Amino acid sequence: MSVRPLNIDPSNCFIAGAWGAPLSGETLPLINPSDGSTLCEIARGQAADINAAVAAADAALSGKWGKATAAERGRLLAKIGRAVLDHVDELARLEAMDVGKPLKQARADVLALARYMEFYGGAADKVHGETIPYLDGYTVYTLREPHGVTGHIIPWNYPMQIIGRSVGAALAMGNASVLKPAEEACLTALAFAEIAHKAGLPDGALNVVPGLGAEAGAALSAHKGVNHISFTGSVGVGKLIQQSAGTNVVPVTLELGGKSPQVVFNDADINAALPFLVNAGIQNAGQTCSASSRILVQHGVYDQVVTAMAERYGQLRTGPAMADLDVGPLVSNRQKEIVEGFLSQGEDLEVVGRGQIVTDAPTGGAYVAPTLFTDVAPDHALAQKEIFGPVQVIIPFADEAEAVAIANGTDFGLVASCWSENGARQMRMARALRAGQVFINNYGAGGGVELPFGGTGLSGHGREKGFEALYGFSVLKTIAARHG
Ligand code: NAP
Ligand code: MG
Repeated sequence: MSVRPLNIDPSNCFIAGAWGAPLSGETLPLINPSDGSTLCEIARGQAADINAAVAAADAALSGKWGKATAAERGRLLAKIGRAVLDHVDELARLEAMDVGKPLKQARADVLALARYMEFYGGAADKVHGETIPYLDGYTVYTLREPHGVTGHIIPWNYPMQIIGRSVGAALAMGNASVLKPAEEACLTALAFAEIAHKAGLPDGALNVVPGLGAEAGAALSAHKGVNHISFTGSVGVGKLIQQSAGTNVVPVTLELGGKSPQVVFNDADINAALPFLVNAGIQNAGQTCSASSRILVQHGVYDQVVTAMAERYGQLRTGPAMADLDVGPLVSNRQKEIVEGFLSQGEDLEVVGRGQIVTDAPTGGAYVAPTLFTDVAPDHALAQKEIFGPVQVIIPFADEAEAVAIANGTDFGLVASCWSENGARQMRMARALRAGQVFINNYGAGGGVELPFGGTGLSGHGREKGFEALYGFSVLKTIAARHG
């Protein structure tokens, strides 16, 4: 597969600024989910490669990278962001082929990655400690220092955005990172390492080891030389990561998805809401941690919203990533089976809207038609479990109290939104909704790299994105000087 002028070889790891085959010499096939074909072979990194990557990160901390000033790190990150933009089309194509994301959506991810580098580049020298008034004869102040080596285990749904928000913030604070991308999606992670290195990121500051979660991922999360772990993915694996972090007593940030509701009241501007109601469910084929998979609608506008959403679903077209339609394939046939398993649990429910798979979509592709269920009971499996596919459920409610009870009635708490023209209600809902982010009369705020993001409950803990992430990727040291 040609990925030039980006000079990456996906059958290699990127460690200490150089490409090298995994020590076992083994590779894994990388599948194009648009047609099921094998794109290329990727490195099957294992514990020995993770050891080498952690050692390289450690060496970087005591070398040029560790000595870089905050301003130098910031300037470099901004330069990396500009270099990402120089490769916007290649990166978008790589991501589209690798994970099946329609080209436009893949391109948006590249722009987000560049924006994260710009934001964290600008923020790197603006994280200040404080002076603390204390006893007579003392001067007390705080420093924000890097953890050291940070481990990043990321999923396949938004590789570039998640690299931007976690690796970007970690590097801004002077950590050195080891990144384990998902086995289904490692091309843009490798390309990013190459771009960053060419832009001047010192050897070992960012190392990428592709491979299986149970091998490379588990080795990274259990490694005693890793001082902080950032994980985005499933609840089950998140629990394992937290156990590993517990064994080594290192901090961990977990972002584990959700079942995020949009709550539509009778007094909402329905026309303004409609595009958000649907897009937040089908973007990236619903494989979004902050996907809005539950739409709660008050009785007075219920029929209107159901009819309008169903109509939009009827227009949705699903097909190969390169055809750049509304919806691409799921990331893999394994994910397709998971989603079809959920759909079969909805056989007792009314399907009110369904998108179409274009007739020329290759038969080996992982296609699932977008599906909209209506009149779903809040405790139904489809209203409780994260599906991670283009599936939404509509749930009716009578009043504000019932809306809050339903909205908060899952194990998750990542994102929520309230659609209402009543200002007092907006304020009440913002406080009552159990979520790390609440949107009023919008959903997702267009991604917002500046906006702290993370969950409560099974959605995880810790915050990435925004300035807040810089606190998570640093350690506070208090210095008390007694000088009389
Ligand atoms: P996953 O297994 O949690 O994968 C996420 C990352 O963790 C990948 O890099 C994976 O590597 C790695 N991993 C897997 N097992 C590991 C282990 N024992 N130790 C360390 N790392 C490990 O998620 P998935 O299986 O791809 O997807 C399954 C479900 O998870 C989805 O249906 C969805 O519900 C949820 N999910 C949520 C998010 C999110 O953004 N919150 C993202 C993806 C998936 P490999 O993939 O290479 O094995
Ligand atoms: Mg793939």
